[in-house]
Amino acid sequence: MPSLIHDLGAETSATARVVEVHHRLCREYGCPLCYFHDLDPLDELVSALLSHRTRNRDSALAFRTLRERFPAWSDVRDAPTQDVEQAIAASTWPEQKAPRIQQVLRELTERNEGRLSLDFLQDWPVAQARAWLETLNGVGPKTSAAVISFSSLRGKALPVDSHHHRVAARLGLIPERMAVGPAHRILEAQLPVEWDAQQVYDNHQVLMRHGQKICTWRMPQCAACVVLDLCPYGQARGLENGVLVDAPDPTVG
Ligand code: SF4
Repeated sequence: MPSLIHDLGAETSATARVVEVHHRLCREYGCPLCYFHDLDPLDELVSALLSHRTRNRDSALAFRTLRERFPAWSDVRDAPTQDVEQAIAASTWPEQKAPRIQQVLRELTERNEGRLSLDFLQDWPVAQARAWLETLNGVGPKTSAAVISFSSLRGKALPVDSHHHRVAARLGLIPERMAVGPAHRILEAQLPVEWDAQQVYDNHQVLMRHGQKICTWRMPQCAACVVLDLCPYGQARGLENGVLVDAPDPTVG
C-alpha cells in the first residue's frame, strides 16, 4: 500500500492525521460506540483505581465484590483495610489499592464537608474538574479522564490506556518512548476542538480496540491494517512479496 505519511504528515497538521485515522477506524469498529457503563462519578473513580494494570474482567469482579460487601462508600472508607483488600482480591496489587481507595475516600469526605459524592463535578468545566481530581492521592490523567468521560458525567476527556498508547506511538502521534501520563495532554490537543464528548470517547475506543485486535503488542497485523499507509512503524517493517517483514519494535523495551 502506498504511504500517505508525507501527504498527510509533513504538509498538514497532526490533527488532520488523527482525523483520518479516526474516520478509518470508526468505519472498522462502528462509531458511535456505546458507553460500556453508566456509573456515577465516584463509582467510576473507584472502578478506575481498581482497573490499573488489571484485566477488565478482573477489575469488574473486584468492583462488584466490593459493592456487594460494602453497601455504602463510607463503609469502605471506615472498614479494616484487610477487609477491603480481601474484597478487591481479584484486581492486581489489592494490598496497595485497598489503602489508596480508603485514603481517597477520606480525602473526599474532608473536602466535601462529610459528603461522599462527586456529582458536583457535573457543573464544573472539564479542565477544572480534572485538575481537582488529580490533586487526589493516586489520581493521574488517565483516571481523571475516565471519571469525566466514562461516568454519568459523560464529559469531554480522552483516557489513554496501554493499547491506545501503543497504537498512537506506532502511528507517530506521540514520541516513541513518551510515557502514558504525558501522552494524555498531547493526544487530546490533537483532537478537533469542535468534537463532542461522544467523538472523543469514540477516538479512545477505536484506538484501544485496534490495539487489542490488530495492532497487538507482539506481532501487529500490519498487512491487514486500514491505517498502514499512515503508519511510520508499519511502513518501516516493509513488504516483501506482499508480506510484511518484521522489524524491531521501537515502542517496546
Ligand atoms: S500499520 Fe501496523 S503498527 Fe501501524 S497501526 Fe497498523 S497494525 Fe499498528
